[in-house]
Amino acid sequence: MQEKQIVIHYGELSTKGRNRKMFQTRLADQIRHKTSKIEKVKVVPQHDFMYVKWQLMTYEDMVAILKDIPGISRFEPVYEVSKEMGEIEAEALRLFEEIGPKDGESFRIVAKRQDKSFPLKTYDIQRQVGAVVGQAFPVMNVNLKHPDYTLTVQIGVKDQAFLSLQSYQGLQGMPYGSSGKGLLMLSGGFDSPIAGYLMMKRGMELEAVHFASPPYTSPQALEKAKKLTAKLAHYGLPLKLHVVPFTKTQEAIKEHIHDNESMTVMRRIMLRIMDQLLIRQKANAIVNGESLGQVASQTIDSMRVINAVTNSPILRPLIATDKNDIINLAQTIDTYTISNEPYEDCCTVFAPSSPHTKPKEATIEELEDRLDIDSLVSEALAQVETFVIDEDYIQAQAAEFQTLL
Ligand code: ATP
Ligand code: MG
Repeated sequence: MQEKQIVIHYGELSTKGRNRKMFQTRLADQIRHKTSKIEKVKVVPQHDFMYVKWQLMTYEDMVAILKDIPGISRFEPVYEVSKEMGEIEAEALRLFEEIGPKDGESFRIVAKRQDKSFPLKTYDIQRQVGAVVGQAFPVMNVNLKHPDYTLTVQIGVKDQAFLSLQSYQGLQGMPYGSSGKGLLMLSGGFDSPIAGYLMMKRGMELEAVHFASPPYTSPQALEKAKKLTAKLAHYGLPLKLHVVPFTKTQEAIKEHIHDNESMTVMRRIMLRIMDQLLIRQKANAIVNGESLGQVASQTIDSMRVINAVTNSPILRPLIATDKNDIINLAQTIDTYTISNEPYEDCCTVFAPSSPHTKPKEATIEELEDRLDIDSLVSEALAQVETFVIDEDYIQAQAAEFQTLL
């Protein structure tokens, strides 16, 4: 069977000097992981680009996989034929037929000769292939400066020539796992999955943390967090989801802290737990979906008081993003329908009617003395439940559920 191949261009990654090897390894790992169920693909890194070579999958399937892998700026399918002009011309026609050029569009041919003994010079190859294409597709004209399509013909050193016509946009960003590890605070809302997606696209490995307060929060709310985690795993590798039991803390807050300040105290306890998890999971940062001014806990005054309990970096990729743009992204990465499910998470269930937008740190500290925070934190930590989640996990779970019916 003939080998298929795609050339992958890295974009920003190619500026990374000494780290380049690590970046390439991460990218290669992900490509291998995403294709591993079907076949063993070959990944061949070069200086500024890499080849993926394989046999079984269709080009379309491989394109669909590569489109969702961070760290790829663009990629081009490359088609191999034997090094004869007849074959090259036939393949050129087939490729143009596949895209079906429209009236008024333009093209150019770019030839490259690695084999300097090839009888035709670069210019002659371009002219000859160009003439054949132009004749077959009179709707197109030639445009050497800004064509709609560029067909590249590379005359290889061995017996083959390589043609490529279509170029696809990648996700951009950096390879997953090339920029440290973060713990994503994942609620069931729209924001936090998008925050996670953006950090993953920037190369950060993630584990998700969900605070649950059963029986006040439903099993469906937890399911939601799992499904959102699976959507994120699509852009990286299988993700851990840590579920922190938060009922006892919520009840203690309800009993001892009055409504106006309860949100601030609750968030501060969440962060204290996150801090411990950071050490336990050897992660470098907390990631959340906060957006300035979105709700009372996300005013700058609130954030300062909440933030005061930790020295860990808190990354807020959505801090300056409008809700509309967040919703658009949720539609793009397909988390919208899941986030839109009605099941409420712990913050919504216990949400006070009029939370303070300008809490005072001293007041909050005084109120916190009414709680045994250390015990609440350590008890919650002792009962964290961890799942490893990807799209297969959700499918298997759904199948199991079906058999129970
Ligand atoms: P989202 O912000 O994801 O839409 P939300 O709007 O319900 O959810 P907010 O009240 O805006 O949540 O909370 C701000 C951030 O706090 C969330 O983006 C998320 O990172 C974190 N967070 C809130 N609730 C939880 C939870 N139950 N478990 C984990 N993290 C949470
Ligand atoms: Mg929010």
